[in-house]
Amino acid sequence: MLLEATEITKSFDGQSVLRGVSLSVARGEIVALLGPSGCGKTTLLRIIAGLESADVGNLSLNGQDLSKLPVHKRGFGMVFQDFALFPHKNVAENVAFGLRMLNWEKSLQKERVTSVLQLVGLAGFEQRQVYELSGGEQQRVALARSLAPSPRLLLLDEPLGSLDRALRERLMGQLRTILKSAGGRGLPYGVLGVREVNHPTSGADAGRQQIGMTSIYVTHDQEEAFAIADRVLVMNAGRIEQQGLPFDLYHQPHNAFVARFLGMDNLVEAKIVGRDPLSVRTPVGDFYLDQHQLLEVDDIQLLIRPEAGIIEPQRGEGANTLQGKLENISFRGRHRIVTLTVPSAKGQVNLKFAFDTNVILPTDQPMITIRLKQSELMLVRS
Ligand code: ATP
Repeated sequence: MLLEATEITKSFDGQSVLRGVSLSVARGEIVALLGPSGCGKTTLLRIIAGLESADVGNLSLNGQDLSKLPVHKRGFGMVFQDFALFPHKNVAENVAFGLRMLNWEKSLQKERVTSVLQLVGLAGFEQRQVYELSGGEQQRVALARSLAPSPRLLLLDEPLGSLDRALRERLMGQLRTILKSAGGRGLPYGVLGVREVNHPTSGADAGRQQIGMTSIYVTHDQEEAFAIADRVLVMNAGRIEQQGLPFDLYHQPHNAFVARFLGMDNLVEAKIVGRDPLSVRTPVGDFYLDQHQLLEVDDIQLLIRPEAGIIEPQRGEGANTLQGKLENISFRGRHRIVTLTVPSAKGQVNLKFAFDTNVILPTDQPMITIRLKQSELMLVRS
């Protein structure tokens, strides 16, 4: 394990911001810290960077305690939302900044600037002025600047946050590829030897296979976290609610917060009424489920995944069906999100379903019948 943070706790003015957060990051791994605004993501990143100190908790890199190591000796790279480039320097000067600080020889600086610009898709941009570049290009320059000294760990705080949606989506895919093809210290991409003496620890990393840049990526955007990270940590109010591979998190959210934060809003109170087969009672009806977890938990909700719905051409009331009024259809390209208002024992409930664009919606019917796929229903903790 490269980085280990244990029970990190932090308060500002008596307000608890981090409440015992532990995380580990393996060499070459990209870990995303995902959570709503104010949950403590940036504070945790700043503590790892050394820009802030924890009240309680341990932080180590390769087993070395980081608490006494100042920011500039940690050998970490950082990328922020606002790029923080020098506006009056050209691209090459910006990218070479960290290398100059580390007293790299001029010829090696030039060589590295060329290779790192190539890596981020900006080959030949050396002499361009920063203010001439688009937002996406500027962010790639910022990334190149952070990658140039082959940091031991790269910390990224909402690096795509200020870009428009189309550009963000494009860069999302590129960023993962760049991080996976950029090596950390002593890796093939960065083997120039000389800067090893400029880093706080040297030698231990040399000669390793290329495994990508070890990175911690802060975002509040679930799509971004899923697209870029190997592993995602979902944070809420200073704690980690759940962590896992993007696929596992999406398919097995442990609780209602995680499900909602990952965009799954169809949650209704549930009570188990049968165990063989497993069935639950909810305000919108009784349903059968495949899942056999959480049977002993009292406070549960039924998660109806957006993919769960199958439109029944005729009105019907069979097992695992519900009826609702078609409230809204939102076109999203390959699919549409259909909102149904479903009468329930506790007032009306809005449920959202995703349907392929080619599915015919019976828009002329006052009430639509939807059958729920048993495999797309699951129980989560409230
Ligand atoms: P966002 O996505 O909005 O940046 P975040 O999850 O990164 O949010 P943090 O920036 O870590 O959250 O902030 C967590 C809480 O700590 C917030 O309530 C914030 O106001 C508070 N906070 C952060 N830094 C300081 C500080 N230096 N002094 C006082 N309070 C702070």
